[in-house]
Amino acid sequence: MEKRSYNFAAGPSALPLEVLKQAQQDILCYPGAGCSVMEMSHRSQSYQDIIDRAEASLRRLMNIGDEYAVLFLQGGGTGQFSMVPMNLAHRGDTTAYIVSGNFAGKAQQEAARWGNAVIVASSKESNFTYIPKIKASDIPADAKYLHICGNNTIFGSTFNSLPDHGKTPLVADWSSALLGKEVNVNDYDLIYAGAQKNLGPAGMTVVIVKKSIVLDPVDDVVPIIMRYKPQIDNGSMYNTPPCWSIYMSGLVFDWVEAQGGVKEMERRNKIKAAALYDYIDASAFYNNPVAKEDRSITNVVFTVPSKELTDKFVAEAKENNIINIKGHKLVGGLRASIYNGVSQEAVSALLDFMKKFEKENQ
Ligand SMILES: *Cc1c(COP(=O)(O)O)cnc(C)c1O
Repeated sequence: MEKRSYNFAAGPSALPLEVLKQAQQDILCYPGAGCSVMEMSHRSQSYQDIIDRAEASLRRLMNIGDEYAVLFLQGGGTGQFSMVPMNLAHRGDTTAYIVSGNFAGKAQQEAARWGNAVIVASSKESNFTYIPKIKASDIPADAKYLHICGNNTIFGSTFNSLPDHGKTPLVADWSSALLGKEVNVNDYDLIYAGAQKNLGPAGMTVVIVKKSIVLDPVDDVVPIIMRYKPQIDNGSMYNTPPCWSIYMSGLVFDWVEAQGGVKEMERRNKIKAAALYDYIDASAFYNNPVAKEDRSITNVVFTVPSKELTDKFVAEAKENNIINIKGHKLVGGLRASIYNGVSQEAVSALLDFMKKFEKENQ
């Protein structure tokens, strides 16, 4: 078999090796089904068991109460930028957004097609190096919800505490940190996450939504595939669900449970992140621009002194078995995404390489 590299991709991203091996074992024939998960009917008992298990496991991991529906949908994080306003607000209604990064901005732009999507605060002027603080009184009184992006994948920042949102329902895109740190579901009316960051392969989006906040009926123009209600009523199977992606994410959920749950994932991610941040902060060669109290424990961004050195870093990292370390084009520089599937060993290998590179190039 080809050698697997240390993979710091932002998404699709590294999965736990045990999960890949389990999938490999079952790929030709899922036990008792006579075929692969990719080949079975989503209406079969085997598949019903797979999706039920995945949902039950996620509910245990995040302590999700019965007042919330758990949906496994298609359309990615971007699909939710559209579905959230169309299912929580009528056309023209006011909604509120904190713009703390690129995806938060895209969510707001999509909501602005539907209604009056007010930007309550933004850190755009600093190229998103911090999480803007707000007071509940900054939110329009008639806003149907306040939307935040919990972890800014591209800029490496995160909400380490809830915004002051008063009585306005809170909606969060936790795509790049769900199950990577503890998130109290009861603090939110809706949480969503694209699986390809920290949960599984691409193709599935988790939506955890308080059933009472979903409009019923929604405005008539909302396409059926963009409505939560039919998916809630049909256990995410109003139409064919992303079967393989749900199966794989279910294996990841089982893996997280076996490791000790989200608390344990958070503990490990904090150790991995601290090792990188401590080294970067002590170095005059590397830099991280994010306000310390707002730094992400799943996406660590950093720079080296020049564009030439950035390219050299990426190329030599690859020779050292370290891949997908280049930063997003909006920030440049470098980024280590250190999700649950990225081991301590991988982070140690990256740190060793960073030290060597600094010595040779300073
Ligand atoms: C990647 C990402 C998205 C976009 O996800 P797609 O599945 O590509 O639509 C949205 N929000 C956050 C925080 C992300 O990291």
